[in-house]
Order: sequence, then structure tokens, then C-alpha cells
Amino acid sequence: EANVPRCAGCGIPLQSESQTRPGYVPESSIGKEVAVCQRCFRIKNYNEASSVTVDQDEFLKLLGSVASTDSLVVHIVDLFDFQGSLISGLQRFVGNNPVLLVVNKIDLLPPVTNWNRLRNWVQKQAREEGLKVADVVLCSARRNIGFDRVVEAVTAYRGDRDVYVVGATNVGKSTLINRLISDYSDLKRELTVSRYPGTTLDAVHIPLDDGKNIIDTPGIVYEWRMSEIVPRKDLAALLPDKPLKPLTYQLNDKQSLFIGGLARFDFVEGERQSFTFYLAGSLNVHRTKLERADELYADHKGAMLSPPSLEDLASMPPWTRHRLRIPPNAQSDIFISGLGWIQTNGKQGATVDVHAPRGIKVMLRESLL
Ligand code: GDP
Repeated sequence: EANVPRCAGCGIPLQSESQTRPGYVPESSIGKEVAVCQRCFRIKNYNEASSVTVDQDEFLKLLGSVASTDSLVVHIVDLFDFQGSLISGLQRFVGNNPVLLVVNKIDLLPPVTNWNRLRNWVQKQAREEGLKVADVVLCSARRNIGFDRVVEAVTAYRGDRDVYVVGATNVGKSTLINRLISDYSDLKRELTVSRYPGTTLDAVHIPLDDGKNIIDTPGIVYEWRMSEIVPRKDLAALLPDKPLKPLTYQLNDKQSLFIGGLARFDFVEGERQSFTFYLAGSLNVHRTKLERADELYADHKGAMLSPPSLEDLASMPPWTRHRLRIPPNAQSDIFISGLGWIQTNGKQGATVDVHAPRGIKVMLRESLL
């Protein structure tokens, strides 16, 4: 351990195996006398945050010390994968520090969305997951919508405290940090990074002009998100980059729909009704009879029913079945983490099955829209 080369910036042990893990350096610089990890290099030289990832256990260890600090915790979540990207255990770790919930990617929703209703929905869902939030801000990092309000809220809630930024992977955390850096620091001065006190964990301190810091924590990997288990090359097909185009299907029971080769929806029982799919536009939906669904999958998986490709199927967990009972007279979403959701519209309720790779979070929730 003592001889492991460490980053001169943040102190993390250096490694050349994985670019997405903390401490990455290209093999060629690992023997150098003063080596810094790629993440510190980017911050120092380009004033730019980049993402590294850790699993849940490592992340919670890192969070353990937040409670004893006086800080603002900014939790950024992905609206497209709300229940998949929310850190539900956060409350136990932040102590009395306020949590500002930044909900990113609102550009994906239709422009006619009722934003007040959405904010209430977010607040209620966060509460149901056990998270008490000081405030909710809706934004789109990519389209630069609502970002002024994010910065305003951070300024108002932080006072003169440090700011911890936490989030799952792919929620837009780097984009947010880069914006905070450019709004809060004197960019003519080289940014320095320092080791997180008392640990070897990879949380990078970015000093602000008032002597306080933005603390960029690694993105947390949740294996229950479809976006974490698909092959890298299929990720772009899953993550929508344009406003979602809802697809509505009028279905009789005993009909099935495949979402690419990633999941299958069966309308098992109920009166004829419509279901509205909110998915990335690049995914194909195939409709068939329930009694034919198994055979169709066996014959067409990896080809007509893709992604994933036939070769990649082997590296994905097998499907498990989730039976869901949709209550009458309530608009619900059938949520499939990282893939999207299916809005129900029936007055009489329904019984449906969702087949999805083992471990993927599938749940019924109050309708988002
Ligand atoms: P990080 O892993 O949390 O640091 O997230 P990144 O900033 O690298 O973004 C992850 C992915 O989400 C990238 O494909 C981004 O283009 C995309 N993304 C980030 N912000 C937005 C947004 O506001 N809207 C949409 N549609 N995509 C976004």
C-alpha cells in the first residue's frame, strides 16, 4: 500500500486500467515523479470537471463525513430516471445540512408541461423516498434552461458554506459543476485540487473565491438502472436527447409489446384501454399477441428485437417478470429505471407484467405527467 503511486492532486492511488474509475492516468505517466490523475489534470489545466464513478458502498463511506461538516448538499437527479437516480439513503448522511434537489433534463418533457404540478410531484416523490429537501429547482444543463435559478438557489442556501455536489452517473453532474466553477471562481487563477481530509476517497475540492469549496463527489453507480447494464455502445440509444415523443397504444388484454430487446410489457388482464410509452425515440416497439410473445423473442432477439445485439445478450442478466396491478381511477406510470415509463389511462385498472433484466428497478408510481 505504502508504495502505491498516488495522485499529487487528490491523493487517490493511481491506476491505468479504467478511465471511468477514480485515479486514472495513462500508463505512460504512471512512473513520473509528479503524476496527477486525469480528473485533477482537467480541473487544473482546463478548469473542467469530469466524471468518475464508484459503487454504492464506496460512495456511502465518502458521505459518512458530510454530517459533521457545515455545508450545503446539492443533489442532482435525472428527471427521465427519477426513482433510478435519487439517492434515497442521503438523508441519513447529511445530518442537519440542507439538501437542494436539482432536477435535470427537463428539456425532455413536452413544452406544455405544468411545471408547478411537476415540482409538487418531485417534492412528493422525494418525501416518499425518505428525503427531506430544502428546495427543488428544475433545469436542463444541456439546453441551459433554469440554470440561473440553480446558481441563485445555491447562493441563497449556501451562505458562506462549502457545497457538496452528489448524484448518480449520467445525471449531468459535470455540466453543473463546470457552470458553478465558472460562476464562482476567478478563472484567471489556476484551480487547485486537494485531497479529501482524513480519507483516501476521491472527492475533489475546488476552491471558491471566498475560501470555501465545491466538493465534487464521484458519480454513484446503481445497478438497477438499465443505463448501467447495457453495453456502452447502446447507451446513446437509451438516453434521450430530444423531447420525448409519447407513443399511445390502444390495447386489448393478452397483447404484448417489446421495447427493443430490453424489456417486454404484457397487458395481462383488463378492459380495452390505452397505454402511453415515454422512451428514447431511437428505441423500436414491437407489438404481438401475448401467446406469441415467447416465440417471437426466441426467434428475433438480438436482431429485430434489439438492442442489445445477439453477442451482447450473453453479458446481460436474464429477464425476470414483475406483476403489477394498476389501481382503478388513478393515472399511474409503470416505471422501468433507465428505460422510461408507460402511463396508464384506464378507468377500471389492469393487471400487467413487465419482463426486464434481473435487478432492474421496475415499479408503479403516481403519474409524472
Ligand atoms: P455526469 O455523469 O453526471 O457528470 O453527467 P454528464 O454531464 O456527463 O451528462 C451525462 C449525459 O446526460 C450526457 O449524455 C449528457 O449529454 C446528458 N445530459 C446532461 N444534461 C442534460 C440535459 O439537461 N438534458 C438532456 N436531454 N441530456 C442531458
